[in-house]
Amino acid sequence: MAEQRRDAGDGRDAGETGARRPGEALERAWDDLVATARRTVSDGLVVGTSGNVSVRVGDTVLVTPTGVPYDRLSPEDVCGVSLDGRRVLGSLVPTSELPMHLAVYRSTDARAVVHTHAVHATAVSTLVTELPLVHYMSAALGGPVRVAPYATYGTEKLAENMLRALRGRTACLLQNHGTLAHGATLDQAYDRTAQLEWMCRVWLTASSVPGRTPTLLTEEQVARAGQRLEGYGQP
Ligand code: 13P
Ligand code: ZN
Repeated sequence: MAEQRRDAGDGRDAGETGARRPGEALERAWDDLVATARRTVSDGLVVGTSGNVSVRVGDTVLVTPTGVPYDRLSPEDVCGVSLDGRRVLGSLVPTSELPMHLAVYRSTDARAVVHTHAVHATAVSTLVTELPLVHYMSAALGGPVRVAPYATYGTEKLAENMLRALRGRTACLLQNHGTLAHGATLDQAYDRTAQLEWMCRVWLTASSVPGRTPTLLTEEQVARAGQRLEGYGQP
């Protein structure tokens, strides 16, 4: 007989026994999270188990487990924590970058976070403290993308630096490390990551032409593009 479901308010299913297991919303979110994590590998934004992805459903944050190849993740591997970092779903150890992911959810209305070690973005993070305005798509990330000063991976210090770099933006670079972007959905956080990596590639390409320096946009030009982007796409 089908078990009566009681929703715990955030997609978790309390069931009749009170035992926590994922409800349908969380199961779907987990599938989307795994697909996004796999995409970071297939699109070349990370190698192996580098990077991590999370998605928030109610007060539960689903995260990729630390050090597990994404192609091995199955529905049974669901890994969920509360906003204060307590494990509430699954038995795998969450990503080491939990402090960064939780810092974003605690201080923004983001519903998804993507962290990668994308090549061009990581290279740029070693050269500047802010990505030069080579393209108007900076506006789609809230303005000039800052580089968070280096701190050891997985630390609260890195989360702190990242949060400062993220102020007023939806993405930042992490010095000598990679990218972090958030969004209202996994697709949006992923797309922002891909746009950031693409812009870093444009800047590196243009600035590596011998004897030439790329022309940059002004903040005002980027802001104007930002206003226009608000109406971008199909009505
Ligand atoms: P995890 O495997 O713990 O998610 O770590 C990967 C990473 O990118 C650390 O910065
Ligand atoms: Zn990393």
